[in-house]
Order: sequence, then structure tokens, then C-alpha cells
Amino acid sequence: NADLGRAQALITSIPDYPEPGVNFRDISPLLADGPAFTAVTEALVAPFVGRFDFVGGLEARGFLFAGAIAAMTGAGILPIRKAGKLPKPAAAVSYSLEYGTATIEAPDVLHPGDRVLLVDDILATGGTLTAAQALVTELGAEVVGSAVVLELTDLVGRAHTGDVHTVFTA
Ligand code: IMP
Repeated sequence: NADLGRAQALITSIPDYPEPGVNFRDISPLLADGPAFTAVTEALVAPFVGRFDFVGGLEARGFLFAGAIAAMTGAGILPIRKAGKLPKPAAAVSYSLEYGTATIEAPDVLHPGDRVLLVDDILATGGTLTAAQALVTELGAEVVGSAVVLELTDLVGRAHTGDVHTVFTA
């Protein structure tokens, strides 16, 4: 697929953002290219089609892929939010960052046994995705898979997350 073939080059690297020494990956050019975005979204969901009831998107760029996958497959959307955004969170999970901690929350929309596919743009240390897996489990639902567009393999995030389907690696 030619669109998928050129998509990885549409993820650019910004040195020293948001702080010195960090090489930030920016997916904005990929989002700006409709056929490339569609091809990446199809590749992201491909191994899981027919196997999930909800697609859980991680704030904020995971929402974009989750919305597209929901429209493609008929699944519901579970927005996994940063703390303090939901009026009535059903569960919360905190996790460590390099400096300090972060918390994610989910709304009360899942039922026991619901099958959830988690999606995000980038897998770095894996802390965010591991917390999202714990959050879904705490809600009594089942994580059937996790998928990211780009895995930064040096950070070995999958040591924490377990198996993750990745469209691209860097
Ligand atoms: P982790 O928890 O260290 O794996 O970081 C993953 C989360 O941080 C994801 O929600 C990403 O959107 C975001 N993130 C980490 N590194 C980058 C980056 O280089 N570019 C864009 N987002 C990033």
C-alpha cells in the first residue's frame, strides 16, 4: 500500500522538545494527509477486527485514531482521560513519570466482559499504556489488545505493557 509506505516519513522528529535531550515525534504531518492517516488507522486495527466492543483512545492523539476506528468498525469509544476532565469518573489509575506522577480516568460506560482495544499514537516508556490496561481491568472489562502507531524501541516500553501491535518502529 503506497499510502502506508509513505506514512512513516510523515512522522517528524523535533530535537530538544519539550526539553533539551528529548527527541519529540510529531504526527501532525501524518494527520494532515488523509490517505496516509486512513492507511495507518487500517493497519493499526487490522489484527483486532471483529474482536472488540470498545476502542479505548488515550488522550489526546489516541482519541483521533479511536474515533476513526469506531466509525470503521461500529465499536463504541472509551475516552481515557487525563485526571480532572471527567465529571464522574468510574475509575482512576496513577502511574509514575520521570518527574512526579500522572493519573488517568475513564467514564462509566463499560460493562463486565466488554472487550476493549486500546490505541495511542506513540509508545515510549509504556507507563501510560500500562496504566490504561489496569484502568480497563479495574472496570471489569477485558483488554483484548493494545495498538500504537509508532513504538520507540530504545525505551523498551513493551517490557511493561506486554504485547503491543505497532504499525511503525523507530
Ligand atoms: P509513555 O507513557 O512514556 O509510553 O508515553 C506515551 C504517551 O506520551 C503517549 O500518550 C504519547 O502520546 C505521549 N508521547 C510520548 N513521547 C512522545 C513523542 O515523542 N511525541 C508525541 N507524544 C509522545
